[in-house]
Amino acid sequence: MNPSWRRVIVALAVAWPAAACEPILGPSRVDSNWRVVDTPHFSLNVRPGSFAEQNAATLGEVLEDQYAYTARVLEFSYAGRVSMFLYNSAADADMGSDHSGSAYPDTEAVRATCVPPLDGSLFGLLSHESNHVIQQNGLGRPATYFVLEGLPSAVLSERYHSRGKTFLYSWTASHDAQIPPLSNLIDDDKWSSHDQQIAYNASASFLAYLLEVNGPSRLKQLLPVNSKDFARKFEEVYSSSLEEAERAWRAFCAGHR
Ligand SMILES: [Zn+2]
Repeated sequence: MNPSWRRVIVALAVAWPAAACEPILGPSRVDSNWRVVDTPHFSLNVRPGSFAEQNAATLGEVLEDQYAYTARVLEFSYAGRVSMFLYNSAADADMGSDHSGSAYPDTEAVRATCVPPLDGSLFGLLSHESNHVIQQNGLGRPATYFVLEGLPSAVLSERYHSRGKTFLYSWTASHDAQIPPLSNLIDDDKWSSHDQQIAYNASASFLAYLLEVNGPSRLKQLLPVNSKDFARKFEEVYSSSLEEAERAWRAFCAGHR
């Protein structure tokens, strides 16, 4: 049994919020039908003969680039390894769709589907899930879904795809009318009532914008802030109300169609 797998299966399973792809502990059970391809910071667990195995070298390159990018852009260090369990399908992974993932930061593990094509959509999914592990081990667990789910996609390297801020800003411009006010998105009690694609992309876009305009140090101060205190703390950190920043962000994105 390789060490990364042993670390995963001794973890406890807990219930997690249905609206987040980021459970705290687990996975509870992992079968033994894997081959392991190691890169400097990842153990890619792939099904023998699978699409993931055939493309493990490329997936490893993309994830290594993302690993370095995340730590560089957010200015922190993390020396850990991430165990990626890459499944052949939704049925194989026991997940809802062929484009699904879950991250387990406490055990430094990710479960995700890995199906063709080998494109930005797949790279973005795997990068988002591994970012949960990397960011939370380096910076702690964000206290709102807004930051918990926004930050992993806000910090996507665009070396191998354009699913990072290029996509997010243009998506924001074309979905402006459908994006709820940020005062609603920062409220954890309302998070699961939103269309999740809209909630994830809008959160990521706004955080990418904050990072681009003001750098990481202020943004990192928002990670431990809960919904109730978020707007007040935002104004304290940025010397601008959340509403003012939201107007500036929407206008900024309108220029990136
Ligand atoms: Zn997520």
